[in-house]
Amino acid sequence: MIPYGRQDINQDDIDAVSEALKSDWLTQGPAVPRFEVALGEVCGAPHVVATSSATAALHIAALALGLGPGERLWTVPNTFVASANCGLYCGAEVDFVDIDPLTRNMSVPALADKLEAARQTGSLPRVVIPVDFAGTSVDLQAIRSLANEYGFSILEDASHAVGGRYRNHPVGDGELADISVFSFHPVKIVTTGEGGAASTRSEELATRMRVLRSHGITRDAAAMSGVNPHAANEPWYYEQIDIGNNYRMTDFQAALGTSQLRRLSHFLARRQEIAARYHHILRDLPVIRQFVPDDTYSALHLYVVELTDDVKRTRRDVFRSMREQGIFVNVHYIPVHLQPVYRGLGFKPGDFPAAERYYERALTLPLYPGLTEAMQDQVVEALKRAIDG
Ligand SMILES: *Cc1c(COP(=O)(O)O)cnc(C)c1O
Repeated sequence: MIPYGRQDINQDDIDAVSEALKSDWLTQGPAVPRFEVALGEVCGAPHVVATSSATAALHIAALALGLGPGERLWTVPNTFVASANCGLYCGAEVDFVDIDPLTRNMSVPALADKLEAARQTGSLPRVVIPVDFAGTSVDLQAIRSLANEYGFSILEDASHAVGGRYRNHPVGDGELADISVFSFHPVKIVTTGEGGAASTRSEELATRMRVLRSHGITRDAAAMSGVNPHAANEPWYYEQIDIGNNYRMTDFQAALGTSQLRRLSHFLARRQEIAARYHHILRDLPVIRQFVPDDTYSALHLYVVELTDDVKRTRRDVFRSMREQGIFVNVHYIPVHLQPVYRGLGFKPGDFPAAERYYERALTLPLYPGLTEAMQDQVVEALKRAIDG
């Protein structure tokens, strides 16, 4: 069986976790800030807040950006449900912007049109969450111009894109997005088991996220309310200044993450190599791959092909045939607005036609550092058989 994605764990990773387990800390301790610094070096951001998952990071990032009841959050339908759910956690209204069929990322013209319409009706979003689908950056410069014009914050869901680049920006450097979020789930580029992080240039946003990550509690006298005039003299004193969660990463997860980040450039190079070989050996097959602009270095989390209209078998048949041949292909993503929870909020088929059309023909092929050339040939042979029926 060849999965669509798989973690790469070596002896250094195992040693790093063992060391952490022998230390005094199991929950958040010194390994967490070390991981935050290491990730900050990768993405070029001065502040990184590590969390228990990307889902948790999206939630506290949205809260830190002021999202709440009566506010609106927009994202894309072509993403994992977590990109939209964080809006519902905050009690906000969630809406979607259709994708560009070539990049499969948020369509900037569709966003511009929707913003103009929302301005007319006084229903502009507070937060927009573009997603770097499959590791390929969305056009953040264009979205930044719209953010400046319409006054929303950009929360980039970079769960797929750690180590990627957009023009002269490492993904997550905070120059264009207000906050960027990464995921360290085992199928992603680097892993901490479960885990996530948020990066930003804003010290204020980072401080707010750190408080929200840990019950809404602070030990910083300067941040306290003043209700206890003896706060500074009571060394045990802490104060809950907000309604937070327990979204902390453990120290052994952070130790794994730091060890994994040391191999990030190797992981990315392997993904580039495998994708380039796919481009080559799939060139005569009736499939379309994601368009990656020249000024973008994709982290290549996923290799998704779309079956063209020349393929007479349905995607369901092709999918089933691949699974029967031992190739664990997948589908990214079922449009979020078609999930029962979102249909219950009024969304329906036909609302975002580009995302729906793409979804009907999409198939994710295996891509991970340990995929050998022989396995890759097996994938492509299986795909040929599946398409030919
Ligand atoms: C994986 C993923 C998430 C959620 O990540 P977790 O770390 O599993 O919470 C969010 N958004 C996107 C686009 C993802 O792919």
